[in-house]
Amino acid sequence: MFGKTRSLHAVQDVSFALQPGEILGIVGESGSGKSTLGKLGMSLLKPTSGAIRYQGKLLSDYRGNDLKQLRCDLQMVFQDPNASLNSRLTIEQSLREPFILHKRGSKQDQHQEILRLLNVVGLPASVLHRYPHELSGGQKQRVVIARALALKPKVIIADEAVAALDASVKAQIINLLLDLQKEFNLSIIFISHDLPMVQTMCDRVLVLYLGRLMEYAPRDVIAQGGKHPYTQALWQSSPIADPDRGFSDEEPLHGEIPSPLNPPGGCVFHTRCPRAVARCSEVIPRLYPLGPQHNVACLLHEAQAVV
Ligand code: SF4
Ligand code: MG
Repeated sequence: MFGKTRSLHAVQDVSFALQPGEILGIVGESGSGKSTLGKLGMSLLKPTSGAIRYQGKLLSDYRGNDLKQLRCDLQMVFQDPNASLNSRLTIEQSLREPFILHKRGSKQDQHQEILRLLNVVGLPASVLHRYPHELSGGQKQRVVIARALALKPKVIIADEAVAALDASVKAQIINLLLDLQKEFNLSIIFISHDLPMVQTMCDRVLVLYLGRLMEYAPRDVIAQGGKHPYTQALWQSSPIADPDRGFSDEEPLHGEIPSPLNPPGGCVFHTRCPRAVARCSEVIPRLYPLGPQHNVACLLHEAQAVV
């Protein structure tokens, strides 16, 4: 789905394709460019160079009815449901908005569709006449997901969609997204800072640091700790770090992410990398292919790259 975005400062040289029905995780600390990538995918931001394609066509080339369809096909769910829902509208009014905007169905059809959507996301019809403040955080996020599903999208970009929820509600919303993915064969881009969580639900994971791709790997590679020192550091600094994953005694991630306005030269991770050597501050690592669908941008893996 996305192509190269070369000179945009927030995200650079990130290239990947999203397959139908695939769940792709985008992971990194805050400031890593994850949300920028999501917004580029939604056409909420325009790349200064490079290409973002959907079904083979550049997003910027969509016009007229095709553009309307594109806006139905790609939907985004953000972290804070309060920011996504208008506090002065009832849940029914909020859920009706996409149908009105896209002139879909009679009022009666819309009502039926809204009831169906509530059922899909596991909410009772009694919420229809409520206002957002009368619902819990988890219920509100279900409403946001229902609204995202209203126009039968093909791709959902979930940007920290469960980050603000309690652990048990978080698990419910993740399970809901996984169920919906299967039921409707959705492609989901799941953006999060939480590597262990992303690893449990995504087919492939893209690890970003300062807007650069550090590692792109299938779930099982990430589950075993990944190959890039940054992926490994994210694992080690996560609360459920597992000693069986075979890490060395190196320090987990320390210090702050540098400013994207003034990124370090060479490997952008070298100022925090526990395995950095002198060359790392001078040479920008390429993405070295280590196996099927597995690329790592680290000089340590230069020699093992599969050519
Ligand atoms: Fe660390 Fe050097 Fe690899 Fe960058 S290139 S991740 S600094 S070892
Ligand atoms: Mg963000």
